[in-house]
Amino acid sequence: MIFSDTIAAISTAPGQAGIGIIKISGPMAINGSLLFFRKQNKIPIHLNTIVSHKMIHGWIIDQDNQRIIDEVLWVCMKQPYSYTGEDVAEIHTHGSHIVLQKVLDNIVSVPEIRLAEPGEFTRRACLNGRMDLTHAEALKDIISAQTQKTLQLTSSHLNGHFRNLISSIRDTILKIMTQLEAVIDFPDDMQDESPVYLSLMPQIHQIEQLIASYDQTAIYRDNVRVVIAGRPNVGKSSLLNCLLTKDRAIVSQQPGTTRDVIDAQMNIENIPITFYDTAGIHQTLDTIEQQGIERARELIAKANLVLFIVEADNNLSSDDFFVYQYIENRKYLLCVNKIDRVNKIQIDNLPLQWPEPICISARHDMGIESLKKAIVNQITQKDSGASDPEFMINLRQKKCLEKARDALMQAQTAYIDSMPIDCVLIDIRLALDALGDITGVVYHEHVLDEIFSTFCIGK
Ligand code: GDP
Repeated sequence: MIFSDTIAAISTAPGQAGIGIIKISGPMAINGSLLFFRKQNKIPIHLNTIVSHKMIHGWIIDQDNQRIIDEVLWVCMKQPYSYTGEDVAEIHTHGSHIVLQKVLDNIVSVPEIRLAEPGEFTRRACLNGRMDLTHAEALKDIISAQTQKTLQLTSSHLNGHFRNLISSIRDTILKIMTQLEAVIDFPDDMQDESPVYLSLMPQIHQIEQLIASYDQTAIYRDNVRVVIAGRPNVGKSSLLNCLLTKDRAIVSQQPGTTRDVIDAQMNIENIPITFYDTAGIHQTLDTIEQQGIERARELIAKANLVLFIVEADNNLSSDDFFVYQYIENRKYLLCVNKIDRVNKIQIDNLPLQWPEPICISARHDMGIESLKKAIVNQITQKDSGASDPEFMINLRQKKCLEKARDALMQAQTAYIDSMPIDCVLIDIRLALDALGDITGVVYHEHVLDEIFSTFCIGK
């Protein structure tokens, strides 16, 4: 154990809940928290009687007035068999923020105990060798996972698959480095040998595949933006409501009711999607409408996918073509709405280059399942034949991989160009460092700060 101070925090989310947990870690975790704990018979617990990992029922007493704050369960996990690898105590109170805060105030009144920083428990767990950085980062992603698929992709890091892959690439590069160092250290011994053949291509290829997996999993990590666009009155708000199965946007026969953007989030096939219902785009002199249209255009420009809505029972109007100008260079689906009014699409002027339309009725919930499938296909590019990703890497890990790949490519080029082995080795060491930063072979303060500053307090 390397820390002399003790940290404490509320580990459960704010708000009302059945229970709430205060976690304390460090040399004073057990003694410090027991100062406030009394068993049923009001007698303080004797340290020798405590069994690790066994809950004890009792009360927490306020040091200010000796009154009971709450009825609690107290448990300790003695080092090294705890989350942080240090002595850890937990107080399970009722889930009231007032109770939790009062208990925490008492705990941190002990001079050796202070409030924990965000992610500090997990940071200590890493530094005490309880987990590596891939594991720590996966925990954060698990906490923030929005869909089952995200959970599956992030929790697969916990079994060490990603860490082992990085370690095996790193080990191979280390072996190559050792061979090259031998050339420098024992030039005479190496003279009669055939020259060291250096090929870093398999490692570069493996790393490139991992980098590519970042983009493949982007849809599970970042909210996908789907913008519903079209001229006024084609049924954009109706479609948003139909997708959400609730009335989120105002639907009216009167054109121009949606003047601002309305957004709503939903998961389709485990993909978190934000839908944006935008103002009807058309040529207008109304300045408020113009502002709404400008916002719609901005959103279209940033969208992952646009649903371009037209009506089934009318030829395309000049306004439909006006909308198309903003969409044609974006990824979009052509949705022909109000299909309930006609047997088949009655649009005579549908341009040939426009994609196959998807027929829907937002008012009568027709064709919506096919539309959802088409949305998922477009977003995931399912038809592109890309294999399903096994796990999800984060931006920091991707940057480390890119650094490693670039350094290895430079090493490979330097070797082919017959540069001195020393130069080749510089790049190989850079690659090793970058790969080491993924798992935390050596802990650098700035890397730890970058990771743990985004954690929540109490984790
Ligand atoms: P927006 O201006 O594009 O958002 O259009 P709205 O969703 O407000 O709908 C305009 C009008 O079209 C309303 O009277 C809706 O009830 C009607 N509408 C929307 N979708 C359909 C549909 O699928 N079928 C029919 N018959 N009417 C629809």
